Amino acid sequence: MDLKNILDYQKVDGELFNLENELASDPNKLKCVSLNQTAKESQIRSNQLEEQAGIILREMSELNKNIEISRKNGEQLLGVNLEKLSKEDLDEKLSVKDKVSQNLALLDKRLTKLAENINNVLGEFNKTIKKYNVAKEEYQKFKASYDKKVDEIQPKMDDLKKQLAILEKKVETKLMQAYLSKRKDKIFPVFVKLDGNTCGRCRMELSASAINKLKEEKILQCEHCRRIIYFD
Ligand SMILES: [Zn+2]
Repeated sequence: MDLKNILDYQKVDGELFNLENELASDPNKLKCVSLNQTAKESQIRSNQLEEQAGIILREMSELNKNIEISRKNGEQLLGVNLEKLSKEDLDEKLSVKDKVSQNLALLDKRLTKLAENINNVLGEFNKTIKKYNVAKEEYQKFKASYDKKVDEIQPKMDDLKKQLAILEKKVETKLMQAYLSKRKDKIFPVFVKLDGNTCGRCRMELSASAINKLKEEKILQCEHCRRIIYFD
C-alpha cells in the first residue's frame, strides 16, 4: 500500500482545513451570530409586549365604560327631590349612593393601576425596539467585516480545492473514502504517524500485537482518537 499520495493530499487539505477553521472562528462572524440572536429575542419580546399592551388597553376601555355607568347611577340618585322622600326611603337612597361612590373609587383606583401598567409595558416596548434596532445595525457592521474576510479567503480555498481534485485522482479509492469520511467529521489530520509505540496524535499506547498488525498492514485505526495510524 502506497501512502505517499494520500499524505500529499492531506498536506494540501491541511491548508484548507486551517482556512475553514479561520472562517468558522472569525470573531466578526461569532459576533454576527450573537447579534442575530439578540435581534430575534428582542423581536419575540416586543411582540409579547404589544400583546400585553392590547390586553391592558381593552381592560381600560371596559373599566371606563363601567365608571361612566356608575357615575350616571350616582347622578340619577341625586336627581330626585330628596325633601319629598320619607326618612326610610331617604336612608336607603343615601346608602345606595355611598355604595356607588365606593364602587366608583375602586374603579378609579383600578384604572390608575392599569395606567401605570400600560406605561411600564410601553416603556419596555420602546427599550426592546431600540435594542432590536441597535443589534440590527451592529450586525450589518460585523457582517461587512466578515464578508470582507470571506472575499479574501475564498479564492485561496477554491484554489486548494482545485489542487485537491487533482491529487485525489492519484489516491487509492479505499483510502480516499476512509479519509473523506473522517474529514467530514472534522477529524484532522486523518493520517498520523506511529510515534514509538504510541498514536502520533493522541499518544495512546498500542499493544505489541497492534503494532505487529500495523507493521503488517501499514495502517491501523486508533481506538482512542479514531485517526488512522500509519507506519513507514
Ligand atoms: Zn490516537
